[in-house]
Amino acid sequence: MALIVQKFGGTSVGSTEKIKNVAKRVLRYQQQGHQVVVVLSAMSGQTDRLLGWAGEMQRLPDLRETDMLLATGEQVTIALFAMAMKEAGCDAVSLLGDQVRILTDAMHTKARIREIETGLIRRHLDAGRVVVVAGFQGVTAEGEITTLGRGGSDTTAVALAAALKADSCEIYTDVEGVYTTDPNICAQARKIKMITYDEMLELASLGAKVLEIRSVGLAKRYKVPLHVRSTFSENEGTWVVEEDRLMESMLVSGITYSRKEARITIKAVPDQPGVASKIFLPISNAGILVDMILQNTREGQLTDITFTVLRTDYLRTMEILKQTAAEIGAESVSSDESIAKISIVGVGMRNHSGIASTMFQVMANEGINIMMIATSEIKVSCIIAEKYTELAVRALHSAFALDKVNQPTEE
Ligand code: ADP
Ligand code: ASP
Ligand code: MG
Repeated sequence: MALIVQKFGGTSVGSTEKIKNVAKRVLRYQQQGHQVVVVLSAMSGQTDRLLGWAGEMQRLPDLRETDMLLATGEQVTIALFAMAMKEAGCDAVSLLGDQVRILTDAMHTKARIREIETGLIRRHLDAGRVVVVAGFQGVTAEGEITTLGRGGSDTTAVALAAALKADSCEIYTDVEGVYTTDPNICAQARKIKMITYDEMLELASLGAKVLEIRSVGLAKRYKVPLHVRSTFSENEGTWVVEEDRLMESMLVSGITYSRKEARITIKAVPDQPGVASKIFLPISNAGILVDMILQNTREGQLTDITFTVLRTDYLRTMEILKQTAAEIGAESVSSDESIAKISIVGVGMRNHSGIASTMFQVMANEGINIMMIATSEIKVSCIIAEKYTELAVRALHSAFALDKVNQPTEE
């Protein structure tokens, strides 16, 4: 008998019919004698719908109230799911984040999990029930409802698997696993059989939303093997695991894109010690993460600083920055929301030169201008105009031969 955590995403529970189908699948595991903890997302589109409503009420919706609102999405699916299980003759109980006690910090809309109490879940499991937990939500020590950031149900699932020392954690979604790039924009994308935590961390942080990045970080830290697979087929999906020697031979294992960022430039800043900290400290104090940063020196002791933030943080960043610009005597602040970040990821890059230059050549051949570049040991990212996203992804996928059958990732 194993203890399994199974997480089903928004499209998997997107209608009452789909919820019934997922219940049938879970029932099969339960009947085989396994203990099952199910983590559910809200129905597909629901979180966006709720955010849209919030935006109709307040230009910058209050973050505490946003969490109160967003947490309702998952409450709907877990209750319906528990009903479907009972209808199928299996005892089940749905639990919200605060009932389990998924304790988080108080950073509303992007809270981090601090601790999970497992006592209640264990008691229900021992009584033979399937336990259905609302993904994406938690509670602070003061009893305030929080959410974990978009895609946060993955994090709930992995954190529960780690806390319960589950035998496995399965992430069920609308594609058959992790692909060489988003199968929805590149028909040549292929399913990867196994991928390392580190590669998956990069893919996730660079836009492959199939797994939320914090869930991968947690899985790595607590050595939770993840199996990403489809709700709609029985096929084996992708295993996210620790690195082994065979996997190092992969040069580039995936291409990602993200349209979630915006670029901001603060122009003609006095080039002197302390200026960068004056610019970025108020931004980080507001809980806003800055991604890429580029500094161009001008003539006459002046410099331009360009950086990227999530589009969801863009309005707040601009407000903060306009104030800073006035304080430090910068000339102006400009911005561009129509950008995309295209990245190539692979552990094999560590031991090979020339990967970045191949990427730049591909962009040049397609006539795509690169606005910013960032590299790490196992990734290269470029900021380009958003309209070239698909073109860039497909050209890179083919240039790095990810569509070829003799790649080590092929099944
Ligand atoms: P869920 O609602 O199940 O959490 P998501 O929409 O968050 O599902 O993630 C699944 C989606 O991730 C897929 O439909 C696909 O479009 C997208 N995706 C982006 N990059 C990749 C990739 N490399 N492999 C698989 N899916 C990807
Ligand atoms: N419902 C949340 C979202 O849409 C959490 C999730 O689906 O993982 O982001
Ligand atoms: Mg998701």
